[in-house]
Amino acid sequence: MTDLQQGPEDSRRGLILINTGAGKGKTTAALGTAFRAAGNGMRVLVLQFLKGSWHYGELDSAEALSSSNGFTYVMRQMGRGFVKVGGAEADPEDLRMVETAWEEAAAAILSGDWDLIVLDEINYAIGYKMLDPERVADVLRRRPEMLHVILTGRNAHPVLVEMADTVTEMREVKHAYQKGILAQRGIEF
Ligand code: ATP
Ligand code: MG
Repeated sequence: MTDLQQGPEDSRRGLILINTGAGKGKTTAALGTAFRAAGNGMRVLVLQFLKGSWHYGELDSAEALSSSNGFTYVMRQMGRGFVKVGGAEADPEDLRMVETAWEEAAAAILSGDWDLIVLDEINYAIGYKMLDPERVADVLRRRPEMLHVILTGRNAHPVLVEMADTVTEMREVKHAYQKGILAQRGIEF
């Protein structure tokens, strides 16, 4: 490892990263980072807000890495895969699931048990007003010094963008969906 890669000991710190924007790649970039971190022997937890009805290949990849190869790469879906949007009120069941997901996420963040935590699609839960961004900001501020946290989803809240270290906005140039091409195995799920 070069000096640049390692850095002086006191330059190492936990970062907050946000992958947002309307283009494709927010979750997959976070999973790529998770893959990278796990390979470094870091303990990785991916909690997926709202997701739950689809079976994603990455769930099996994480399981395979963790179960037989000594890596710690835990991934859990905390939703049911769809939320009613556009209506006046969020569905109470979705609200309950977001609350449970957030309680688990907050406990994990504060536990010291992890080196990287991905809060996938959390920006949508905040954007749909199912989760107060100030609650998230408060827990992130109190996180262990070396813990990295990645938040994904469109329309990241300004409070979280402000406190983040690295924010990337995926910009859509084009998407197969616009040609009527449906989600493809291995690319979208
Ligand atoms: P991915 O999981 O592929 O990295 P993402 O996290 O950037 O996508 P989400 O907003 O979480 O995007 O939406 C997930 C699903 O929506 C994916 O199947 C993705 O291909 C699709 N999607 C993302 N961006 C677009 C878009 N601009 N138009 C249509 N579908 C999109
Ligand atoms: Mg996503």
